[in-house]
Amino acid sequence: MAETLFHKVWNAHAVRQLPSGQTQLFVGLHLVHEVTTPQAFDMLRQHGWTVAYPDRTFGTIDHIVPTSVQRRPFLDVMAEEMATSLERNCRDAGIPLWTPDHENQGIVHVIGPELGLTQPAMTIACGDSHTSTHGALGAIAFGIGTSQVRDVLASQCLALDPLKVRRIDINGRLNPGVFAKDVILTIIRRLGVQGGVGFAYEYGGSLIDAMTIDERMTICNMSIEGGARVGYVNPDAKTFEFLRGRPFAPQGAAFDRAVNWWKAMASDSGAAYDDRVTFDAAAIEPTVTWGINPGQSVAINEPLDGDANDEAFEFMGFRPGSRITGTKIDVAFIGSCTNGRLSDLEAAAAIVRGHRVAPHVKALVVPGSRAVSKAAEARGLNDVFTAAGFEWRGAGCSMCLGMNPDKLEGRQLCASSSNRNFKGRMGSPTGRTLLMSPAMVAAAAIAGEVVDVRTMLEGVPA
Ligand code: SF4
Repeated sequence: MAETLFHKVWNAHAVRQLPSGQTQLFVGLHLVHEVTTPQAFDMLRQHGWTVAYPDRTFGTIDHIVPTSVQRRPFLDVMAEEMATSLERNCRDAGIPLWTPDHENQGIVHVIGPELGLTQPAMTIACGDSHTSTHGALGAIAFGIGTSQVRDVLASQCLALDPLKVRRIDINGRLNPGVFAKDVILTIIRRLGVQGGVGFAYEYGGSLIDAMTIDERMTICNMSIEGGARVGYVNPDAKTFEFLRGRPFAPQGAAFDRAVNWWKAMASDSGAAYDDRVTFDAAAIEPTVTWGINPGQSVAINEPLDGDANDEAFEFMGFRPGSRITGTKIDVAFIGSCTNGRLSDLEAAAAIVRGHRVAPHVKALVVPGSRAVSKAAEARGLNDVFTAAGFEWRGAGCSMCLGMNPDKLEGRQLCASSSNRNFKGRMGSPTGRTLLMSPAMVAAAAIAGEVVDVRTMLEGVPA
């Protein structure tokens, strides 16, 4: 019978049906970081349990890392405690851990694919919502809470409810100045932030087929913002080439065998879906959020739509009918697991080259990993950004969630390439976030206000 990748992977990893109706699912790869693990390891110790599969567990420090000075001990005592605790827990359990002085360090969802840990048809769990990112390589990847982190550490299994599968086809080509970020913001806007509850999102269609793995990661990353538990793209030749030679990917003949297995796990052409939705790529425009969830967005030249009494309008200080273009910004942030990869920095640098950041704007570029940082520096991107007045920082989550010194102050308004615009997300309870593509953030940094990046494309290579 024709099946989806989701069902094939689920069935291949099912240990047994639980009386609750849930499935006990084996987890192929567990990624841990400093924020959601201290209590989980404590609970393990209290029960006298040990980590079941340290060889399937890998750690990095990302959320609390300062991006300006990364020397230890961190100046923030709590951050230092979290880092020390993860170091101790990983050492005791025999789990490899990449601290900020290690070349493999970076945001957990950037380094997994980068190192070849993330592979097609794998089940992956991590104590961070945006674990769906790994679905870009054909994995089924779950963001989990602290008690589930404990479960995976102790048993390498998760108890999960089954999911329905929604196929989302995006066909055609994007116009210049329109990026993967605009695609996923448009999908979330149309389907709603709760639209994916109970679903896995399978992305396909000619646009997804043509996308790079980096672009697919941007799409899968924000599946969770549309309510979906996971998001994935079927593995194809691009996936295999992306993985070939990466340190943790199978090597030599084992790689060829793995490719055959990965191909067999892709969704069959006649697979049935619980729902299907189609988007026209050519109709997608540069998109910006105006509200306090990622579904509250507009195409750049559209008027804001909604009820003036909506708390989002009140919090953000916007009015229905007004336009987002011309909105003055205070901060520009390029980074995060959504858009902190090399191709994101290249897209932003193409806009920045030869320009200056507006004098009233604080502008930051934070690579998603040390490897991204090194590759960007080898291409001179750091010089492009610093010459324009951006700060070039060390790898980490940075302003995406304000759990480190990179925070908004007061009611500052930030043009951000990250994934969440919730109240308080960037470290200030009254700070405001406008989500957009890295190229749009770059354009806003230069103009000092939200602008249509398409007005700045002259001379930019397609
Ligand atoms: S960049 Fe943001 S969303 Fe991604 S892992 Fe870090 S805090 Fe989470």
